Amino acid sequence: MLRWWTHRGKPPQVSVTLEEILSQIRYLHGELPPIQDDIRIGEIVAYRTWALGSLAVGSRTAPVLVSLTREHIWSPQQEEMAKCLVARYIEHPVPSLNCTCGIYASKRGEEKPLRFHISGTVQLWGTVIEGTTGYRASHARVLSLDAAPGLKQDTLAMLRRLYTPQLEYPAS
Ligand SMILES: [Zn+2]
Repeated sequence: MLRWWTHRGKPPQVSVTLEEILSQIRYLHGELPPIQDDIRIGEIVAYRTWALGSLAVGSRTAPVLVSLTREHIWSPQQEEMAKCLVARYIEHPVPSLNCTCGIYASKRGEEKPLRFHISGTVQLWGTVIEGTTGYRASHARVLSLDAAPGLKQDTLAMLRRLYTPQLEYPAS
């Protein structure tokens, strides 16, 4: 059970567990793929940017990562699996060369992320199509959350503990 805001001994103001968050996201998204703890060989690391979302869990809220291009919450500590929302009535592998579907990530990080955007890195695997500036992948997972200009340090710390609990970030 994760209670990530008990950071530096501060008393918790709200309490939302990882299980509660995932259960709420499952309610919104349908079934989620299982948590994968194993490290896979051949993963590609690329850059991504998210918007900050606020997930209502009962009367409480939890900060979550939301895609910039559509209303999609990334599930903490779970793999993301791409679905085609472009040509959804035509069966094809996702991503496909002749479609624009897949989970997008860039080869280079944004030099100046916009205020309140969260930038970080993701691991990509499965089917990965390489483009000039980035990739489209069938599977992805958050690897690190590196910068969030304008965001409160506490909020970034919560997101990091939620999405990348295995990582230790340098003190800022
Ligand atoms: Zn497609």
